[in-house]
Amino acid sequence: MTSEFELIARYFARPVAGDGVDLGIGDDSALLLPTPGHQLVVSVDTSVAGVHFPPDAPAHAIGHRALAVSLSDLAAMGAWPRWCLMALMLTETDDEWLAEFARGFHALADTHGVSLAGGDVTRGTLAIGVTVHGELPTGQALTRGGASPGDLIAVTGALGSANGGLAAWQAGLRDLADPLLAAYLLPQPRIEAGYRLRELATAAIDISDGLLADLGHVCAASGVGADIEQEAIPRDDALIERLGDTQALQSALAGGDDYELLIALPAERLEEARAALASIDVPLTPIGRFSRRPGIRGVPCDGPGGWQHFPGAAP
Ligand code: ADP
Ligand code: MG
Repeated sequence: MTSEFELIARYFARPVAGDGVDLGIGDDSALLLPTPGHQLVVSVDTSVAGVHFPPDAPAHAIGHRALAVSLSDLAAMGAWPRWCLMALMLTETDDEWLAEFARGFHALADTHGVSLAGGDVTRGTLAIGVTVHGELPTGQALTRGGASPGDLIAVTGALGSANGGLAAWQAGLRDLADPLLAAYLLPQPRIEAGYRLRELATAAIDISDGLLADLGHVCAASGVGADIEQEAIPRDDALIERLGDTQALQSALAGGDDYELLIALPAERLEEARAALASIDVPLTPIGRFSRRPGIRGVPCDGPGGWQHFPGAAP
């Protein structure tokens, strides 16, 4: 049986990848060196087995996904990620599982140059809380509150795929080469896209709860409404093929878990924004416009409002 300290040493303590870590794993706290003239951009997300991911998902995907959903929040601010902390709750210490979990986590961390600077391990129901620290030149954050009437509403990638992947998982599919299942279990945070859009977009959010719910957050924060062109919402061919047109649209509108970015963009900057994303192969699709009129129009108004842990609670 692996002790807590052996477990940390074996699976999580590594030579620090990026710079800016004066003292990492092994002491009571980490010592980090933020870049002068920058703001720290900090976010935390908890992934709970059976709530946010299937407990029997491949361990490397669980590790990847736990970090990806936190990094997605930095992407939505246009921030550059630097460090993270992991609070890991485990039911048991299974070496094979931990090795795979750590492999998935570290691989994504390396992709984005993020150093794991510390964490915590406890026993309980399987859950992973990941705190990420990014940086931005002071005052340059892309928030939810900057959209103006007339700005385009644009989204990266395709929507609904993760929801299609969830359906596929529930139907028994286990092949991670499947594009929908991969979208669900191995989401790619749009860090580079968010960074490139920071000076072009006026507002941004990551689509974690579903397009309508997250668009609603931007509208509320910016004091605007939205007109959507339903047919313009980008959806993967595989999703339409598998679920049919109506259900694919429903997945895109309210499915959640996509981790794409929704931005507000002055129309005259569309081509520049698309060009900025072309070299990283991220499509950017306008799906409507923000408006002075409150409310969201152009989509079914009686659809579900996106994922909520506490439906009916105060907004
Ligand atoms: P303490 O009892 O002082 O809180 P811990 O035993 O929780 O210390 O952790 C020992 C060291 O290992 C700390 O530096 C902590 O940041 C690090 N650590 C613990 N769990 C993890 C983890 N899951 N990932 C990365 N570092 C971890
Ligand atoms: Mg501790």
